[in-house]
Order: sequence, then C-alpha cells, then structure tokens
Amino acid sequence: MMSRERVLFVDHTGQIGGAELILLDVVQGRNESSAFLFERGPLAQALAERGLSVITSRWGLGLSTFRRDSSWMKALPLAGGLAAITAELARVARGHDVVYANSQKAFVLSAIANVVARKPLIWHLHDIISPVHFGAMQRRTQVFLANRVAAKVIVPSEAAAAAFIAAGGRRALVEIVPNGLSVEPVPVSRQELRQRLGLPSGPLVGVFSRLAQWKGQHVLVEALAQLPGVHGVIVGDALFGEQDYAAQLKRQVAELGLADRIHFLGHRRDVPLLMQAVDVMVHPSIDPEPFGRTLVEAMLAGVPVIATDAGAAPDILEHGRAGLLVPPGDARALAEALDAVLSEPAILEPQLVYASRRARTHYSLSRMLDSIGLLIRNVRAGAAV
Ligand code: UDP
Repeated sequence: MMSRERVLFVDHTGQIGGAELILLDVVQGRNESSAFLFERGPLAQALAERGLSVITSRWGLGLSTFRRDSSWMKALPLAGGLAAITAELARVARGHDVVYANSQKAFVLSAIANVVARKPLIWHLHDIISPVHFGAMQRRTQVFLANRVAAKVIVPSEAAAAAFIAAGGRRALVEIVPNGLSVEPVPVSRQELRQRLGLPSGPLVGVFSRLAQWKGQHVLVEALAQLPGVHGVIVGDALFGEQDYAAQLKRQVAELGLADRIHFLGHRRDVPLLMQAVDVMVHPSIDPEPFGRTLVEAMLAGVPVIATDAGAAPDILEHGRAGLLVPPGDARALAEALDAVLSEPAILEPQLVYASRRARTHYSLSRMLDSIGLLIRNVRAGAAV
C-alpha cells in the first residue's frame, strides 16, 4: 500500500471565507502535507493548528483584493511579483506528491508553476465561472490551463460544473463533490439562545455571508423595510475588498430608518449558534451561487430557509421541498415569503424535518472527505489522468 500522500494545498488568500472553511476540513489528519499561501492572515494559523507546515509567500501580493476591474496601474507591479511567486511555488511543489489549488488564482499560478514542477494538479473550483465574476481573459486563461494541466477539477454542484463546461472546460475533468458539513444543533430553546447571545426576542431573520454586492444583503434590507416589527441580523464582514459595499449597506439601513431593527454583527465564528437563534435564514444572492454552505447549515439547524432561485440553491433545496425559493433581487417577493413563514411557522414543520434529513444524507462531511480522499489517491496513482 502506498503511503499517505504529501499534498501541497495552495490558496491565494489569508482570509477564511467559505472555500477556506472547506479547505480546513479537507486538510484534517494530513499532517504530512503543507500549505502555500500568497498572503498572511488568519488562514495560516488555522492550517498550522491542523498540523500542516504553512509557507506564506515572501511576495505577499494581496491578490485577494485584486479584481478584474482593478486598473493596470495596480496590475503592473504585480507582474514581477507573480513571476517570483510562481518560481517559489514550483520549488515548494517539488517535495510533494500532489498539488491541490483551492481557488482560481491559486490554480492559475500552480498551473504555471507546474510547467517546471510536473506534479499532478487538482483544482477545487469553488466558483461559477461566468462573466459576472471573471473577465473574458481570466475565463479563457483558467479554462485553457485547466484543459492542459489539471488532473481533475472538483466542483460543488451541477451549476458550477455546467458553467465550467459552458466556458470550454473539458467534461471529463470534472468531478462533482457537494460540500459537506457536520454541525449538530445545541439542545437549547431559541429564546434561551437569544438571551445568551443578546438578540431581540421578537420575529428575527438572519443572513450569514460575507458582505458583497452579489450576496444581496441590500435586498433583505429592502424587504425588511416592508415588514414593521421584524428584526434582522446581518452576520459577516467584507472579506475580499468589498468595503464600499459594506459602507453602502450601513448607509441604506440608516436612510431607511432601520438602525433599531437591523443589527450588524460583523464576522463571527459562532454562526451555527446564531443561525439556530433566528426564525428564518435568508440567502438573498442576486447572482447564481456555486453552492451555499449557509443553506445546509440552516437545514442542519432546523431553521426555515428562504433562498433565491438560481445557481445551486434550487438543487440543494430540491426545488422548494427543503426550503422556499424566491426570484433573485425581488425585495417584494422576499418580504411576502418572510411574512408567510413568520406568521405561520407550524406549517413548515414537515419541511424542516425533510430538510434536516436531506442535509445529513446528501451533504455530510464524511461523504465529502471520502470523495476528495479517493480523488487525491487516484490522481497520485495516475489512475484519473
Ligand atoms: N461565515 C462565518 N462567519 C461569518 C459569516 C459567514 O463563519 O461571519 C461562514 C458561513 O457560516 C458559511 C461560510 O462562511 O459556512 C460561507 O460559505 P458560503 O458557501 O455560504 O459562501 P462563500 O463565502 O463561500 O461564497
């Protein structure tokens, strides 16, 4: 039997977003593996706590805030740094059996480094490749490199697979591995939890995502303006250079006179507890989501879900059997759905039981880890090329 693989996990960010929470689960028990990050931040420490040796690039480029609309003035000084990072990455990769890129920027640099390093390369693609998030040049580069260099591309949903293939990606490369979670609700009543967490006792709605325009928190604010007496918690912060949106959201709340009903809690590490404390979890993204961990978190917590009908959400919620769907960007439809759920919560009981069972069977952590473990083994053995 072959020894456990030495994997080099590569991520461009030092922050912990949804994709990095998945990475932190994937690396469990892989003490002989390492991580290579392009910038400092809380992710490095979290990976080190899981026993990995962590290398933070000497070139610390701040790539996580570099977006496709960033100017060339900003891009030019990056070019030299990128070449240096790629060389550094190629050197580090040599001591490993498999390279596992956990973001699109990590994949592009790993693929270039691979010209020298020549290691089997897995891309865990956590995004929907579409013009909304990526410029034409970026999409072409990603897909070209994937088709030429990747041994496998892991995606979390049919929606993400379809977008990759529509952009020109090879179907045979794609493995759909739904994200998996393992969170058990704590045995306390909702009201007791609210007291403990300092949350209001009346009708309470929550959204649990980093603050970003496409995550659609502003649509929830607009909906809450139409529902007097209902409070909302907005959990999450601007993680990847979306500070303008965060400021705009706070302005919107003040201008609508909602400051006493909408509570900004910032980035939190106790999301499962907070989630269990609300009456409804809203997932208001205005662009298609590749997955949506918070949907599964709410299903596991036994909390009703209202999500927008796009991307992976209709799949995860089984077209309405495991949660309600509303059109993206439609504040009125969202307000109506919220009103319906808040006024007659008992009607949803059977749906909650169904949703919780579905989350446990389809989106379990052990299932995700088994699938990814097998993929890494096969890629190393060359069986999946
Ligand atoms: N999350 C968190 N703290 C926050 C806000 C969000 O830990 O303040 C978590 C949330 O519980 C979920 C993840 O971040 O597990 C976000 O994943 P999702 O797939 O919903 O969105 P992404 O950020 O990956 O686009």
